[in-house]
Amino acid sequence: MKLLSYFRGEAFQRGVHPPSCKLTADRKIRRLPFPPKVTVPLSQHIGKAPRPIVRVGQEVVRGQPIARSDEWLSVPHHAPLSGVVEFIGLRPGMRGTWIESIVIRAHPGATQEDLWGRPRDLSQATGQDILQAIWDTGMVGLGGAAFPTHAKLSVPKQAKVHTLVVNGCECEPYLTCDHRVMVEQSDDLIAGIRYAMRATGAERAIIGIEDNKPDARSVLRDAIARAGTLPEGEIFAELVPTKYPQGAEKMLIMALFGTEMPAGGLPIALGMVVSNVGTLAALGKLLPAGQGLTERVVTVTGSGVARPGDYRVILGTPLKFVLDYAGVPAVHALDARQVILGGPMMGQAIGSLDVPITKGVSGVLVFRREDMQVRETRQTYPCIKCGECVESCPMGLNPSTLGMLAAKREYELMGERYFLGDCFECGCCTYVCPSNIPLVQQFRVAKQILREKAA
Ligand code: SF4
Ligand code: SF4
Repeated sequence: MKLLSYFRGEAFQRGVHPPSCKLTADRKIRRLPFPPKVTVPLSQHIGKAPRPIVRVGQEVVRGQPIARSDEWLSVPHHAPLSGVVEFIGLRPGMRGTWIESIVIRAHPGATQEDLWGRPRDLSQATGQDILQAIWDTGMVGLGGAAFPTHAKLSVPKQAKVHTLVVNGCECEPYLTCDHRVMVEQSDDLIAGIRYAMRATGAERAIIGIEDNKPDARSVLRDAIARAGTLPEGEIFAELVPTKYPQGAEKMLIMALFGTEMPAGGLPIALGMVVSNVGTLAALGKLLPAGQGLTERVVTVTGSGVARPGDYRVILGTPLKFVLDYAGVPAVHALDARQVILGGPMMGQAIGSLDVPITKGVSGVLVFRREDMQVRETRQTYPCIKCGECVESCPMGLNPSTLGMLAAKREYELMGERYFLGDCFECGCCTYVCPSNIPLVQQFRVAKQILREKAA
């Protein structure tokens, strides 16, 4: 197999090179202690929220299903710890709205073993059986997209998939959770890739890793060699040049194969399905154990964190608890610091620490206010038509024109004539704008308004 993009040294057109701040890349993943209480929001992913199947006062054990729905784009939730259901109702969510949630108080003496799952043999399971098993885990894309994984890996009858593209790029500066998972859970990842290949019918899988993580490629190549000749097909681990936003599906496919995805199209149109390394490594562990998703790895870092690292955190853990453990005093944390969920390019600043870690949270960044001041106090100036944003947009859009239309509230025009729908909010245009215009924020608002009008 020839992957020429790396040797050409050109991953994809445009994009940016933010300075790497991967302070936690060489530290092993550590487990965060179990908190005394967890809050599981029912709506954590694209698709309909499942319904609670437990009641207040009920005892639950770690791993037990607590919410479920038969809707195709909905996934179940499992109790992250053993304890008692204390409350079912509205709790603060990440985007400032209140969300129906299940609160579980931990049993002080519980061992917190996963007591629900039963190991099973999937060696003879069909692709359909594996998809159902994935659905039962409650898995969504752990890279941050939170799209239900069983739906992502389902191939429509009229389509055929030849390649599973495994996204190990993690191009956001600061985040290292995927990197650490590749290094520390290589066998789980290969197992998860094999399940995904059987579910999709793909004959080969290619793990795309940015060239600032050569250790991950080396570990994964060893794991592939250990797995030997596979009935599913071949697995490759390949480097691609480091560039942001390489982690986007379209960019990764371009970087690996030099093939452009059609505007508004999906990888399946090219016979490919893309999944993230964290998601597949988790599946590699959960599926044979017959367990549901109850925890994930989260990067906690930034200038305001005394003990940065990648932590294995149970879902529903209060953000305050995570910050306390990582050495960020919760008291006055938001006055003295800025807290961002996700990476600095695509993540969102939050205004409350009363929110829990959910399936889509890959990072918690905390910056001291003094470090943010230069950026925060920079004034916004009018557009000088320098074209920097156009040069940086990996989707080939015109952010300058879109920004001017947003200022005039010409939202329909943005969608109809200037392809606002193709913007995937990577933030490259905002990053390069010398006038400090909050372009991506304007596009988010415009999209939200168009969505509300369409509803
Ligand atoms: S317009 Fe959208 S896709 Fe293009 S650079 Fe800006 S945020 Fe990224
Ligand atoms: S980068 Fe900023 S100033 Fe330059 S053209 Fe784009 S919006 Fe205008």
